[in-house]
Amino acid sequence: MKGPVLGVFESMAVDGYEQVLYGYDPVSGLRTIIAIHSTALGPALGGTRFYPYSSEEEALVDVLRLARGMTYKAAAAGLDLGGGKAVILGDSRNRGADSERLLRAYGRIVDSLQGRYITAEDVGTTSEDMEMIRRETQWALGIPIPEGGSGDPSPMTARGVMGAVRAVAVHLWGSPDLAGRRFALQGVGKVGGSFARMLVEAGAEVVVSDAHAPTAEAVSNELGAKLVECDEIMTVDCDVLSPCALGAVLTPETIPTLSCQAIVGCANNQLLTDEDATTIAQRGILYAPDFVINAGGLINVAEELRGYAPERAMHRVDAIERATATILAIAHEHAITPHAAAVLRAERRIKEIGDLRRFRRNGDDRN
Ligand code: NAD
Repeated sequence: MKGPVLGVFESMAVDGYEQVLYGYDPVSGLRTIIAIHSTALGPALGGTRFYPYSSEEEALVDVLRLARGMTYKAAAAGLDLGGGKAVILGDSRNRGADSERLLRAYGRIVDSLQGRYITAEDVGTTSEDMEMIRRETQWALGIPIPEGGSGDPSPMTARGVMGAVRAVAVHLWGSPDLAGRRFALQGVGKVGGSFARMLVEAGAEVVVSDAHAPTAEAVSNELGAKLVECDEIMTVDCDVLSPCALGAVLTPETIPTLSCQAIVGCANNQLLTDEDATTIAQRGILYAPDFVINAGGLINVAEELRGYAPERAMHRVDAIERATATILAIAHEHAITPHAAAVLRAERRIKEIGDLRRFRRNGDDRN
């Protein structure tokens, strides 16, 4: 993973993080980092990634980057939530017998933040894990549906990205019809797999790849989708490239090799840096900002905070189609990239509504 080797305080200063908390449990071997980027719009909500990082440095870079992304995602989705994220260092597939202890110890650390950080599932964690964490803190969402929660957020994330694809199709081709359009999906795990199914239902042709061979083969067989090697997927000739695996895949090295008209994917933090959005536009490729279009899971899980109602959640997720169309129209009107338009809009909301909330809080303090 790329990123400058900075100390924790220097890293926090770069993008104005509010808090970074390190947690450790000697019995289960839990090692966790929770990063709160911003609570300007509300409590920081973001999932827990359970991942075998090669170093603490790599884990810190990842959690900071992901936490900041959540601030923009919540702001763009119009939620009264801030941005945060957590990582647990380790291999989620080989947790051993101490899994319950580890998750509950983690839950107690989340609880110590008293609601400033609210967790949910992410890569390497499941809704069952959230139920376990929930036993130690009320600040865990995305618990299973039979337990009264909203369950796996992936289908809602994919639903939102489908809406974004339709908005992009109208923008580029004058119609939301996806029949016959060719999509290349990098990663067909929880969210990429859901998205692939929805695309096939809409009549699109799908080409898939996944680093986990059994996952790739299962989705390819189920959908009759062409399967290609991981190092080929980015260069497949297609209408839409969909990064649905990990982040930082759109880089100065990969962008010149792309052969698509648009990039519309489910993954977080697809750009290595903001400048890559400009390089993509210069190639005549439309990049739909990830943090706008993949907010479906966040919107869905946030609904648990006021009592989960699937219809209301779906209604809110479906607003992503309109939000994407608005961003594309603003970008076109001002001759800026959709990514820049989305960042400006999110930052304006964080500033304006954040100031209002702070003002109100200060007023309350005086009374
Ligand atoms: P997942 O672990 O279920 O799926 C990721 C898949 O990508 C795995 O099958 C993995 O084998 C594959 N993969 C990893 N590296 C790859 C590579 N180089 N080439 C091809 N395949 C590769 O995780 P997920 O929940 O589906 O999340 C995928 C991405 O979407 C992540 O960036 C996540 O942060 C983002 N995201 C997910 C949700 C959600 O609701 N699940 C919501 C918003 C964003």
